[in-house]
Amino acid sequence: MPKISIVVPCFNENEVIETFHATLVTTLDAALVAGGGPAAREDYEICYVDDGSTDGTRDRLRRLSGGDRRARYASFSRNFGKESAMLAGLRMARGEAVVLMDADLQHPPELVPRILALYGHGYDQVVARRDRSGDGVLRTRLSRLYYRLVRRAMDVEVVDGAGDFRLLSRRAVDALLTLPENNRFSKGLFSWIGFDTVTFTYENVQRAAGTSKWGGRRLLNYGIDGLLSFNSRPLRLAIHTGLWLVLSALGYALWTVAGVLVSGVDTPGYATLIAVMVGLGGIQIATLGVIGEYVGRIYHETKRRPHYVIRETGESMEAAPAVPAAASAVPAAPRALAAPGPRESRG
Ligand code: UDP
Ligand code: MG
Repeated sequence: MPKISIVVPCFNENEVIETFHATLVTTLDAALVAGGGPAAREDYEICYVDDGSTDGTRDRLRRLSGGDRRARYASFSRNFGKESAMLAGLRMARGEAVVLMDADLQHPPELVPRILALYGHGYDQVVARRDRSGDGVLRTRLSRLYYRLVRRAMDVEVVDGAGDFRLLSRRAVDALLTLPENNRFSKGLFSWIGFDTVTFTYENVQRAAGTSKWGGRRLLNYGIDGLLSFNSRPLRLAIHTGLWLVLSALGYALWTVAGVLVSGVDTPGYATLIAVMVGLGGIQIATLGVIGEYVGRIYHETKRRPHYVIRETGESMEAAPAVPAAASAVPAAPRALAAPGPRESRG
């Protein structure tokens, strides 16, 4: 059993994946040989998960795992998102500790030895947290604001910059794998499982090549997901708003009655009426939206679909080598399997 598994989700990382692999292997070999002699060279595995890339990343991974026994891979049938890719990687990993990393070298491999050293001190989660150097001013401001909001609203603690670059001990991984939800907001899940966690900060690095897959809209939706998947406070807020409205309406009614008693009948306030109606209508629609959002989530979860569909893995390709293109006019039946449960996959 390897000591450490590195899990790397990759989506269209054709340009960097080989550099990444070479850098990581060099760093790990140097670190492990320094720590435990030549035998330690075999003490790790790198689990790549191709998240339905369309740019040849899969072929590169196939070649990598063919040439290096420590590299394994699984490939999805389409793009299922980074959260699903990380889940697949965690299920694949056999090591006694797992390090999650991005493929674009934004999570510097040179930091892995430091992470492993901290793991050696007995921590179950070692978090490498990036600072925001090099980010745009607007983006930095917005993220700060978001994290401030999240800290007030969420039941779990989420730290700015502390993302997916982290080590999880075997029991932390097993705890994560017991969480069955479909909508996986991993920043929240990491914090939900608890355990002793240590964090250190490193200087932010820009992506080595390729482009980020997180545009403004995707980030916004991710933010909303995060807020909604860890609490039901928006619903509570709706109740509070309703209560306050009833109270103020009562106050206003009393005030009007008093006005009539003191100074006779007043002219009717059409403007007030319209303003109140539109305002109330808006609040009702917004509240319905909040409820709808939760109902949608319930609907989504009750379908109990697997998180992803596997197209191929290194092991499946070895077991059944590809048929030469000329020999088969009809494409071979897809070997798609539904994602296995967490227990079965770590044989
Ligand atoms: N990624 C993925 N599936 C996706 C989007 C991204 O597996 O749908 C991977 C991507 O290949 C990379 C990591 O997640 O290894 C982080 O993505 P990216 O660098 O685009 O995000 P950013 O660093 O800009 O937040
Ligand atoms: Mg990146």
